[in-house]
Amino acid sequence: MNTPPPSPGHPPPGHHPAEDALLRHAAGTLPAGHALVVATHLRFCPSCRDGVRTGETTGGAILEDMAPADLSPGALDRAMARLDTAAVAAHAAPPVRFQGVALPAALGALLAPRWRWTGPGVRRIVLNPPGAARAERVWLLRVEPGRALPSHGHTGWEAACVLSGGFTDRTGHYERGDVAETDESARHRPIASRDEPCICLIAWMGPLTPRGVLPRLFQQLNGM
Ligand SMILES: [Zn+2]
Repeated sequence: MNTPPPSPGHPPPGHHPAEDALLRHAAGTLPAGHALVVATHLRFCPSCRDGVRTGETTGGAILEDMAPADLSPGALDRAMARLDTAAVAAHAAPPVRFQGVALPAALGALLAPRWRWTGPGVRRIVLNPPGAARAERVWLLRVEPGRALPSHGHTGWEAACVLSGGFTDRTGHYERGDVAETDESARHRPIASRDEPCICLIAWMGPLTPRGVLPRLFQQLNGM
């Protein structure tokens, strides 16, 4: 695993993946989306990186080959780059190289992933990590300050890592680098912090179970 850059000016995360998730990540048995969330957290979290390294050196064969379990080569960097791409896509940009051809920026922007309207104050970029199951959803989610997602439950696991901003739900308050993991027993209504947009990498398995007409419409529109 590449050594992540330091994160000057930011405290280390206070919410970590469950120990079982770290072990399964190291063993390569986490679902692709959940693995992407854990790998993203590791970029922010020295203590979990140390834990994984310790496991690698003492855990023998099951932990000796973390890189393939981690992600396909460059997948995380590509996912992170999508954030930057989306941020600049609407503005003047240098020519975009596509399959060896330099395209005008305006055309290149059509090829770049874009934030799509998902609901009031909510936008998303859909990611398709290699190896993801059909029932898995992996999104970059951007929620405007103070906005809430519809209250919903789950039919499978959900894992999220905050990339910027923060959110609060009934399980706690989460900021940059923090991981929130829930299962089918959880029902929650995440609310973005008021100071800046909350951008999360979020992955979940199986349909959500929204309650009420608007949340269900939200689900139907977005294939959630
Ligand atoms: Zn951690």
